[in-house]
Amino acid sequence: MKPAIVFNISDLQRNFVGETFEDIYHQARDLHKALKQATGYTWDNQHWFIENMYGEVSLSLSLHNSSASLYDTSGAKFVDTLCGGGIFTEAHLEQIKEALYEMANGRTKCNSCKKWANDYKKYSFAGSVCNDCYDPNKHKGPDTRGD
Ligand SMILES: [Zn+2]
Repeated sequence: MKPAIVFNISDLQRNFVGETFEDIYHQARDLHKALKQATGYTWDNQHWFIENMYGEVSLSLSLHNSSASLYDTSGAKFVDTLCGGGIFTEAHLEQIKEALYEMANGRTKCNSCKKWANDYKKYSFAGSVCNDCYDPNKHKGPDTRGD
């Protein structure tokens, strides 16, 4: 595995809750730069991860100035968005805990109805919907025209 920055729930509780997404993003970016220098490894994507209660790296964290997104560790499956108010709150931490728990039990969050489902269908590049929400006319494979 390439070098990575892995947060656990305690790290998030201690260092993220009450901070603005912007501050978290800038600090995490500084960590990433320091890691690149220390390891001599150059890459851009997927360098922040979150481990579950078993110490398994389970989520990829994509940080932005006013929100954050959760993906599976491959980055190929969108899981959830943390947003609202510009500040990382206890509610965001609970969202992450829920995602870790549900994913450890093999479930995927439907990108349409937002329920956790055992069975799902993939669409586009990183989308997933439950069987109830799946519409073959709407949920198609990645559109690579023009690439
Ligand atoms: Zn659904």
